[in-house]
Amino acid sequence: PAPDEAVPWQPGIEARLPWLGQGVQASPLTQPRWLGWSDEMAATLGIQRTPELLARFAGQHSDRIPVEGFAQVYSGHQFGGYTPRLGDGRGLHLGQIDGWELFLKGSGPTPFSRGGDGRAVLRSAVREFLISEAMHHLGIRTTRALAVLGSDTPVWREQQETAAITVRVSRTHLRFGHFEYLFYNGEQAKLRALLEDTLETLYPDLVGTEAPLEQWLLQVVVATAQTVADWQAFGFCHGVLNTDNMSILGETFDYGPFAFLNRFEPGFICNHSDHDGRYAFDQQPGIGLWNLNKLALTLTPFIDAKRLQGILAEYEPALLARYLSRMAARMGLERATLEDLPLITELLGLFSAAGADYHLTFRALAEQDPNVDDGPLFQRLGHQTGFAQWYRRYRDRLGGVGALSAWQRHRAEANPAVILRTHLAQEAITGAERGDLRPLARLHRALCRPYDPRPQDHPFIEEAPEWSQSLVLSCSS
Ligand code: AMP
Ligand code: MG
Ligand code: MG
Repeated sequence: PAPDEAVPWQPGIEARLPWLGQGVQASPLTQPRWLGWSDEMAATLGIQRTPELLARFAGQHSDRIPVEGFAQVYSGHQFGGYTPRLGDGRGLHLGQIDGWELFLKGSGPTPFSRGGDGRAVLRSAVREFLISEAMHHLGIRTTRALAVLGSDTPVWREQQETAAITVRVSRTHLRFGHFEYLFYNGEQAKLRALLEDTLETLYPDLVGTEAPLEQWLLQVVVATAQTVADWQAFGFCHGVLNTDNMSILGETFDYGPFAFLNRFEPGFICNHSDHDGRYAFDQQPGIGLWNLNKLALTLTPFIDAKRLQGILAEYEPALLARYLSRMAARMGLERATLEDLPLITELLGLFSAAGADYHLTFRALAEQDPNVDDGPLFQRLGHQTGFAQWYRRYRDRLGGVGALSAWQRHRAEANPAVILRTHLAQEAITGAERGDLRPLARLHRALCRPYDPRPQDHPFIEEAPEWSQSLVLSCSS
């Protein structure tokens, strides 16, 4: 830690398990500047936006500010196939503050870069910053972002772009892939040490209990199931659900070509590089379990296979329970049970047939007066075959809503108005690339209050414009 900084860095995983990676100097950026900053995250960490901090994040070493980070090794299943050695090819743990790990994404090559440049481009760094804030404020588990920085350092992708860094924050950056790496290399003692360290630092309540590892896996299973359920309920598509992008905390992790649905399309594929649709929107629940199976496999040296299967069997009920509770809130049902699932899936069928915008149609449902036969929901779905019957059943199921204004207010609190649609991110990026940070700041502010009421014609609320259909997201970042 630099002596001149008021940042209370503490040693972290690099001190406890040094064999989990290597110390690396961050490569300096030219003309670094702040593009975005989360006041809320900064307050949580108790730190301030200073020139010294910018220099540190940008890898600008000096005698006063040595910038050494820790690049970790892991492996993982990418698109179904095992890759024996991955690791942070462009990420460095900078240190820990109050139990939060600070992580630079895009800080230059590391021993795990596999020929890559170790950089991230402005568009992908800004997208990660915005989505981290957006997911957090929607109430979906996610890694956080403290800041995003831009620079003049050139980077080549399909064309020349500029390098940027997202400063990511989480309690841990451990992925399923860390455990897979040690398991497939036969490093059982290290695997055990990693598991013990994980329990001691992140799950202290489990230490000393009966079968702590089983309890731990159960928590990972349930957290993952809940997060995937939230994605499905909010129309979020991750895009690259490889096991190296799965956090043991169940946080949405390693944002790349993610997208929210516009129209409701169950088979929506947001990642242009995902030719087979392995990570299509409606595949996510199954993939979550597939990935958990890969994590469970790494525990076979310590836990009986039958018991592992029993723990994995908790995934589906946990996912369904969370999905039902999210959808109940969105639809105004006090609670939903499995018997309500047809009412939900038939509504989504109507969305799909109508090509209805996922978010705006739920917002219309939130504004609908369920006592009448016209209104916002009718404008969006009224012409669909089957809508009238569905609406009748829905109304019966609701069985009256009490005070309409209270009902609508609660619905608004479950149905976000502002969603980080691809075109909104793109407008912020285009501004930032030109040096105009105002669109990014405006969008950032709105994403921090996604449930606030807003006028219908607010630019952040409108349906995705025609031009945005040509925006392509791929693994190039
Ligand atoms: P991802 O698809 O983002 O999960 O990345 C897969 C692997 O490639 C990870 O190990 C990353 O650290 C690494 N990686 C991604 N982009 C780069 C880059 N530009 N330079 C070096 N490594 C990278
Ligand atoms: Mg990754
Ligand atoms: Mg990535």
